[in-house]
Amino acid sequence: MAFPGVVSSPGERSRHRGCPLRPRVATKKLISRRHENVIHDGRGDSRYTTLFSLHQRNAMRRKVQCNAEIRKPHPWGTPPWSIDFRPIPRALPDFVDFAIVGGGFSGLSAAAWLRRFAPEKSVLVLESASLGDGASGRTGGMALAETAAGDLPGLGDVLAGYKKILRALHVDARLTLPGVWELGRSVQATKDSDPVRKHSLISWNDSGELRVARIVPGGTVDPGRVMVGLASAAEDAGAQIVEHAEVRAMDFSNPPRLCVRHNFRGRIQEKEIRAGQVLLATNAFSLEMSGMRAAAVPKLTFALATAPLSAAQLRAIGLGSRRPFYTIDLPYLWGRLLESNAVIFGAGLVPPYLGAPSRFPLGDRSIKNAPRDLRYYDVRRGQSADRLRWLESRVRHLHPALESVRITHHWGGPILLTEKMRPVFRRHPRSEQVIVLAGYNGHGVALSVYLGKWAAEALLARRALPSWG
Ligand SMILES: Cc1cc2nc3c(=O)[nH]c(=O)nc-3n(C[C@H](O)[C@H](O)[C@H](O)COP(=O)(O)OP(=O)(O)OC[C@H]3O[C@@H](n4cnc5c(N)ncnc54)[C@H](O)[C@@H]3O)c2cc1C
Repeated sequence: MAFPGVVSSPGERSRHRGCPLRPRVATKKLISRRHENVIHDGRGDSRYTTLFSLHQRNAMRRKVQCNAEIRKPHPWGTPPWSIDFRPIPRALPDFVDFAIVGGGFSGLSAAAWLRRFAPEKSVLVLESASLGDGASGRTGGMALAETAAGDLPGLGDVLAGYKKILRALHVDARLTLPGVWELGRSVQATKDSDPVRKHSLISWNDSGELRVARIVPGGTVDPGRVMVGLASAAEDAGAQIVEHAEVRAMDFSNPPRLCVRHNFRGRIQEKEIRAGQVLLATNAFSLEMSGMRAAAVPKLTFALATAPLSAAQLRAIGLGSRRPFYTIDLPYLWGRLLESNAVIFGAGLVPPYLGAPSRFPLGDRSIKNAPRDLRYYDVRRGQSADRLRWLESRVRHLHPALESVRITHHWGGPILLTEKMRPVFRRHPRSEQVIVLAGYNGHGVALSVYLGKWAAEALLARRALPSWG
């Protein structure tokens, strides 16, 4: 029997069985009644800490962490940082004031700020996989100014806001802002009066000579530390974070109802949760549910990390200043250094972009060719493996000092491309109680955290949504 008003997450309709949004469906008991009685209302952890000592809390966290470490290798590969945070296991509540779908930078930032602004409200973050399995745990970690579409009306200073948020939430992100090099292939060297261009420290071979065109504001963070810092800030402020809890369908009634499938150590619980308001921060997934299926294109993009380079190698390739970089012409290439002196390089998309370079890649052809779910891809096989081989070959040809460099990590991650490269930040067309925040076009490290705070303010009616969202 179809349930009126229910929208499923992508690819889930066919697998959709026993959803508690349907009337009178029994659910398996996940956590003992005694435990559930203590914590089921999800309203902060003040009662919780009186009943569970810090010692017990840490022991639970270590146990879950230990289980997480014996996971299978991820089909998208592994980035060179880890997310050493597992939320405290707690039973799913029946009702919350705010449900946040998606445990990436956007969702975690919103959760932390909601609880800081309104400690009396209950906040629940539902993450379908492990924290960091989306873009935020797989990102390159370049903190960039503005949006992929440049500055937008009323946006404010993203980098200054990002810095302030990290400080306020005590996130040890290892943020450095030395500026970012924009590299180009047609940069005039000899006649140029601009010293940055004239004396470019970069001279790489990649479909022409790549040189520095200019320096723009920005820098880098350690994405693993940002994830851990935001998740800790949200949980310490009293938000409940639940991993392996997929919102499989949503009923856009008032209040909205979420059909959640929670996998806790192999035991499945299906539960309906009512929420006063919902933030959909699901990025490249669940596009049906967020209403973005027709207006955005999900892609997988790729990166690799070299073994640590010597100081002489870094100087030879022109990265002695440790500035991150990206190209302003095609083929695209971006990169940055790690603290260990390893270098990350990134490029490539699957499904590949088939249209003209200057046009937004939406159209019958790209939609038809795109698989419905990026999880279909495996970086060890097919198009993804081809893209990574292509990236590695480009890196080895950039400079003689990189020719025989050892590659230690290969991985991919999701990005969401939107029309005019603008982030989507608006009320859901089907419900005033639901806000959608996604679509940073590969430019979301600083922006997602910044707009996550704005989303918290909008949910609490402290601030209007932007005109461009
Ligand atoms: C390889 C790579 C390199 C990048 N490099 C940079 C860079 O250098 N600089 C930059 O600015 N940006 C970069 N980006 C982009 C940036 O990482 C993202 O814009 C940002 O992390 C998005 O955060 P998010 O929280 O919106 O999305 P995500 O981190 O993807 O989080 C969304 C979460 O929602 C969960 N979810 C989805 N559907 C459901 C559901 N139905 N129920 C429950 N949970 C659900 C997903 O599992 C996921 O964890 C890069 C991205 C990639 C992939």
